[in-house]
Parts: sequence; structure tokens; C-alpha cells
Amino acid sequence: LIRFDGVTKRFGSNVVLDHMDFTVSSGKHVTLIGPSGSGKTTILRLLMTLLKPEEGTIKVAGDYLTHEEQNGKLVPAGEKHIREVRKKIGMVFQQFNLFPNMGVLRNITEAPVHVLGLSKDEAEERARELLEMVGLTEHIDKYPTQLSGGQQQRVAIARALAMRPQVLLLDEVTSALDPELVAGVLDVLRDIAHTTDITMLVVTHEMNFARDISDDVLMFDAGRVIESGPPEKIFSEPEHERTREFLSAVL
Ligand code: ATP
Repeated sequence: LIRFDGVTKRFGSNVVLDHMDFTVSSGKHVTLIGPSGSGKTTILRLLMTLLKPEEGTIKVAGDYLTHEEQNGKLVPAGEKHIREVRKKIGMVFQQFNLFPNMGVLRNITEAPVHVLGLSKDEAEERARELLEMVGLTEHIDKYPTQLSGGQQQRVAIARALAMRPQVLLLDEVTSALDPELVAGVLDVLRDIAHTTDITMLVVTHEMNFARDISDDVLMFDAGRVIESGPPEKIFSEPEHERTREFLSAVL
């Protein structure tokens, strides 16, 4: 469902991703781990088209994100094409980024109404289901500032799912939370991973969570995947010395 082919991303002379190839199959949950600065967030930002690669192609659900076909030729993707492909992708950030001037319900219904063209009633019905799923039904009339960080993050998860994306990107979604709020957010995400068929690409420092939800774990180092496999293997019998060092520092 997601495919990176020979993707290179540079910032000046800093080569952050070096001819990166990887794929995530439909319905799978893949976690990216590795030291700070190894390029994990860059992968997610490329998928959100917040960045463009210097080389290579990225495909999501059969469509190029980086290119589009014109008269049988691949040309760099235009804005309209990018907007269409991006509808397949939902993202939750470290900072919750809720709309501060809108209540919880409207935070969730805004994009489905304006981007997908759902009626207000349809969007609200879906939002109520999602709020139940993330355990926030009783907070439906509140504003973001009236919620804890963990509750805001659960609204952000519901907001991402309201667009019915095929892919959910999670970028260190618990890193900005007070420790006592982390478990509630991870429980909601475990539930989503285990009960929906959404494809997930996750960057996290929560290794127990990664072990619980991942089909595959990719270990990054200096812009390359140095080791990958099911979590039982990566966490119990890592082959690479760098993976062992990283895990002994974070576990
Ligand atoms: P962390 O776990 O700390 O978030 P990461 O593995 O997600 O790390 P990235 O955020 O992908 O790493 O960053 C990879 C490298 O790219 C770093 O060296 C960073 O300094 C550099 N970088 C990221 N964004 C930019 C930018 N907009 N301009 C210049 N350099 C950048």
C-alpha cells in the first residue's frame, strides 16, 4: 500500500535518506525505530507531502504521490493530484494541532464536511461513533483548552480517522504528554490497530507499544534501514550491533 523506491532526501549537504526502499502492505502496522536524527520523521513528512524527495518515487494505494501520469509519461505531481492522493492518508502529530477556536465535535466534522463533502448530519454521526471509540463522548461540547493533553490527542486521533484514510501515520504521538496520560492514548491506538484494517506507519519511542501492535519493525540508522523483521525477532534477537546498542539504551 505504501512504496518507497530509491528515495533520497537531502537538506543541503546533509543526506537524511539515502536511496531508501521500503514497502508497507495493506492492513499492516509498521513501526520505525532508531536514534534521533536517523530520518524517521522525514519519512512521515514525505508521505504528508510536507517535504519533497530529491530522487525516487513514493506510491500510496496504487497512486504516485511524487509524480502523476500525463500522456503515458511520469511527470512531477501537481497540487491537485497531491491533494487527491493525500486524502488516503491521515496523520497524528506529537503536538495535537487541534483547531483551538472549534469545539471537539467541529474539530472532527470540519474536514469531512469541507473536503469530503459529507452532510453535517453524516459527519456528526461518524464523529459521535469515533468519540465513543476514543472514550470522549462526555466531552463532545468542550473546547481543546478544556481538555487534558491525552484527551486532546484522542480527539486528534478521532479527527484523523473521520476522513476514513487508508493509512494512518503516527509521529511520536505520546512524546508531548505527561507520563500518566500516555497509557490512555496508547490503549486507544492498540484498540484501533487490533479492531480495524487500517494500515499504520508509526514512529514511537514506546517499545512495548511497538511490540504489541507491529507486524514489522524497521530499525533506522543514518538514513538507511539496517535491520527489519517482526517485533519478536528485532526486540529479542537483534542481529545488528547498532540495533542492540539502541535497544539497550531505550528498553
Ligand atoms: P527524532 O527521533 O529526533 O525525531 P528522526 O529520526 O525522526 O529523529 P528526522 O526528524 O527525520 O529524524 O531528521 C533527520 C535529519 O534531518 C536530522 O539530521 C535533522 O537535523 C534533519 N532535518 C530534518 N528536517 C530538516 C529541515 N527542515 N531542514 C534541515 N534539516 C532538517
